Amino acid sequence: MRKNIVAGNWKMNNDLSETETLIRELKLQNKPADVEVMIAPSFTNLLQAFNTLKENPIEVVAQNMHFAESGAYTGEVSGPMLKSLGIKTVILGHSERRAYFGETDEMLAKKVDAALENEFRVIFCFGEELKDRKADNHETIVESQIKNALFHLDASALKNIVLAYEPVWAIGTGETASPEQAQEMHAFIRKTMADNYGTDVADGVSILYGGSVKPNNAKEIFSKPDVDGGLIGGASLNAEDFFAIANAF
Ligand code: 13P
Repeated sequence: MRKNIVAGNWKMNNDLSETETLIRELKLQNKPADVEVMIAPSFTNLLQAFNTLKENPIEVVAQNMHFAESGAYTGEVSGPMLKSLGIKTVILGHSERRAYFGETDEMLAKKVDAALENEFRVIFCFGEELKDRKADNHETIVESQIKNALFHLDASALKNIVLAYEPVWAIGTGETASPEQAQEMHAFIRKTMADNYGTDVADGVSILYGGSVKPNNAKEIFSKPDVDGGLIGGASLNAEDFFAIANAF
């Protein structure tokens, strides 16, 4: 059976002392059974977060990584660097990486390969922009994002891939996809996976929804059959809100 996952993407928020404070607060919350809970602090705070949560079921994950092992890529962080900290999961392809840092499907295919070679689990993000949805192109866009970055992989690699559908128009806007829109897209994503990899693989892949998930809407979104959890931005910066969401299954 596929896993339920709630991951907090802290984005470029929280310095070291804010990270320590939030983690202290997170440790006081009740972790739900049968839900994997993750947080993704910034690179500079990963080691501190990782060490502080060593004995805790909250997993510390990275927000990004470069595809090269090492070399002349000023300002970048490699898979082996993250691995050496003990990190086991990396988020790739976030829409902010695509929009502000020029990440293309082609680069993401390389990043996915590099992450899997370094034995990471990948949370692969994708999603359409508002103009695509208005033009009724959202399924075509999402299908091409998935195909271009993932479909060169063998079926066996898919056990280390988590999909995160994040419609760009719902990120940080307070506007969520309706639970029905999320379900419709998640079912389409699972069918796309099934058409290429078969139903067994498709049924085993967790598909997370991201975009303005809050304590007051998580339950309805997570109740949909093809929604296996959430990638949480703003609400993950508050321990109570984040765990209200993690407990919303
Ligand atoms: P918000 O929850 O702030 O909309 O962000 C979603 C997101 O981008 C998570 O990766």
